[in-house]
Amino acid sequence: MILYVIKKGSSIDSLVDKLGSRGASHRIVELYGRKLVLAWPDNIVEGLTDPSIEATIKTKKPYPLASREWKKEDTIVNVNGVEIGGKRIVIAAGPCSVEDEEQMITISRTLKNLGVSMIRGGAFKPRTSPYSFQGLGEKGLKILRRVSEETGLPVVSEIMDPRDATLFREYVDMVQIGARNSQNFSLLKEVGRIGKPVLLKRGFGNTVDEWLSSAEYILLEGNGSVVICERGIRSFETGTRFTLDVGGIALAKRLTHLPVCADPSHPAGKRDLVAPLALAAIASGADMLLIEVHHNPERALSDSEQQLDIAGFASLMERLRSVARILGRDV
Ligand code: PEP
Ligand code: MN
Repeated sequence: MILYVIKKGSSIDSLVDKLGSRGASHRIVELYGRKLVLAWPDNIVEGLTDPSIEATIKTKKPYPLASREWKKEDTIVNVNGVEIGGKRIVIAAGPCSVEDEEQMITISRTLKNLGVSMIRGGAFKPRTSPYSFQGLGEKGLKILRRVSEETGLPVVSEIMDPRDATLFREYVDMVQIGARNSQNFSLLKEVGRIGKPVLLKRGFGNTVDEWLSSAEYILLEGNGSVVICERGIRSFETGTRFTLDVGGIALAKRLTHLPVCADPSHPAGKRDLVAPLALAAIASGADMLLIEVHHNPERALSDSEQQLDIAGFASLMERLRSVARILGRDV
C-alpha cells in the first residue's frame, strides 16, 4: 500500500489519471485537514511521481490511516469540548444499561461532582441470551440526551444496527461500537459516515492489528475522531471474565496516533477487580477509562457483579489521581 499526502491546494487529477492508466486501485480521503490518496498494489504503483505529492509513505501495515507511519503526533479527539488523547486522562462512567430517567440523572450529577467528564449507558444491549434485558432502545437514548442537557456532559452509547444511525446522530455525542460488532464492517462504514466521534471496542477474539484495521474502516470514511478501546480478550483464564490486555494497550499506543481507552469493568467481571485493572490500564498508557457505575449494583438489570457503587468509584477516582500524578498526567 502506498499513501500519498497531497500538497495543500493541489489538484489530484493528474495523479488519479496516472494511477488509472497503470491499472491501480485507489481511494481518496480527507483526514485531519489533509487530502490523502491510498493506492495499491505496490508493484504497479511504485516509482510513480506527480507534482501534487508532498510525501509518499510505503507501508505493509493493513491500517495506513490509523498508523503513526504518516501521522506521528497524537490525535486529540474532541467530544463536545472533552479532549481525549491529551495530558488529561478522560473518565467516562455510568451504568451498564440505561434503566430509569430520574436515577440516570441523579447518578450522572454525582459522577460529575466526582470528576467524570463523560457519561456512558447502553440503550441497545448486545446480550448473549435473547431472554436477558435488551435495553430501553430509543427511550434510553432520549434519557441520555436529557442527562447531557442536565449535566452539560457528553454521552456515549453503543449502536448495534446501521438502521439506527439517525437516532444516534440525534441523541448521543459519541457512538460506541461494542466488542461483538468490532468486525461488523457495514456497521463500521455506517458509523464512519455518522459524523460523530466513535469509541471502538476491540473484539475479544481480535489481535491488535485486527482492532486497528477496524478503526481503518471508520477513518477511510473520512471520520478521524476515533478512540480505540481495549476491553479484555478471551484467554484460558476463567477467574476473570476476560483478560485485560495491558500489553495490547502499550502496543496500540506505539502503532497508532489514535487515543486509546480501556474498559476495566468487562474484563474484571467482578467489582473488586475493577480498580486494579483501571490503575494498570492508565499505567500502560490509556488516555481514557470507561467504567461501569450503578447507584445500586446488586439490582442492576445487566452486569450486576462488575458495576461499582458510588463509594467504590469515588475511592477509585482518588487512586487514579495519585497514579496519574506519577505518570505526569491529570485525571
Ligand atoms: C458495554 O460497554 O456496554 C459493552 C457491552 O461492552 P463490550 O462490547 O466491550 O462487551
Ligand atoms: Mn456491561
